[in-house]
Amino acid sequence: MRRSSPRVTGKHRRDTPYINEMRPQDILMPVAAGLCCKPGGFHIDPVRPVERAVITHGHSDHARSGHGALLATQETLDMMRLRYGDNFAGGTQAIAYGERIKVGDVTIQFHPAGHVLGSAQIAVSCKDTCIVASGDYKNAPDPTCAPFELVPCDVFITEATFGLPVFRHGNAADEIRKLLASVALFPERAHLVGAYSLGKAQRVIALLRAAGYDAPIYLHGAMEKITRYYESRGVALGELRLVKGVRKADLAGTITLAPPSATSDVWTRRFPDPVTAFASGWMRVRARARQGGIELPLVISDHADWDGLTATIDATGAGEVWVTHGQEDALVHWCKTRGLAARPLDLVGYGEEDEGDTAPLGEGAEA
Ligand SMILES: [Zn+2]
Repeated sequence: MRRSSPRVTGKHRRDTPYINEMRPQDILMPVAAGLCCKPGGFHIDPVRPVERAVITHGHSDHARSGHGALLATQETLDMMRLRYGDNFAGGTQAIAYGERIKVGDVTIQFHPAGHVLGSAQIAVSCKDTCIVASGDYKNAPDPTCAPFELVPCDVFITEATFGLPVFRHGNAADEIRKLLASVALFPERAHLVGAYSLGKAQRVIALLRAAGYDAPIYLHGAMEKITRYYESRGVALGELRLVKGVRKADLAGTITLAPPSATSDVWTRRFPDPVTAFASGWMRVRARARQGGIELPLVISDHADWDGLTATIDATGAGEVWVTHGQEDALVHWCKTRGLAARPLDLVGYGEEDEGDTAPLGEGAEA
């Protein structure tokens, strides 16, 4: 994987206004359908059907069906096909990380976002101005996808799902140890782990394997297709079994992954005295865990935490930061105290599938 240098020398921090270059807002601007690139004739992650869409990743709030032409990584295209069927777009084009494509008057380049398999930041360049739309991202290690790549730019468009200093996710491996300690402590009970079907579930499984857990892991039926897809792309997940049809007594001492909404459902009656866990960055907030009836909160997130967001903004060297979907205000304020131009984008329609969900047990996940 190509990696950028970890630190930018300040080339992109400008003291003078844009003179011989495009103004950023002439390259990308927020409109009702999403982020619009007029000189390129496309939208990024549009929330309404558009003629040409460029998609950062497969979560349903970013990757919607019904667009004309669609540009995304092969993994994102495949996952959209799995979810929506073959006719999810008028036409598709796959782009690899690092590949450059000219679209209208701009050049597009995709870089790994470290969020889920196939997730990308999209760099849009026009003349000498480069804007990077991060989509959702994290800079924490994840064995199931390519690591986040730092992309130097003039304007960085960052998500802000966990854009408050209270959100510090810590080490995911420690949370997995907590889960395994609970499994060891309650061998007569089943452990049900709520996790979003695309990305989080596979990451939790991979982390369990990395921690040395080699027993079969059980899956809710809604997770099967996407999990098998991960395996087909070379992500090793060990022995997986569908929970359907397994006798209740045989589920004692086992771990099952399920969509968050299923863990509060009658579906749980098939498990012996289940311990309900939930893997999410929101689990840092104890009240949310209690509210959702979560016995074992696991702070595992596929989004950057406060330190990740601020360190990334800093390292891009961007002189201007646009903040979107999440807790915009605190991050905008932080940027301004650092002397950066910053503003919220006020895009709507994001945060309905993965952790952007405001409720820990929201209906956004596929049940
Ligand atoms: Zn996402």
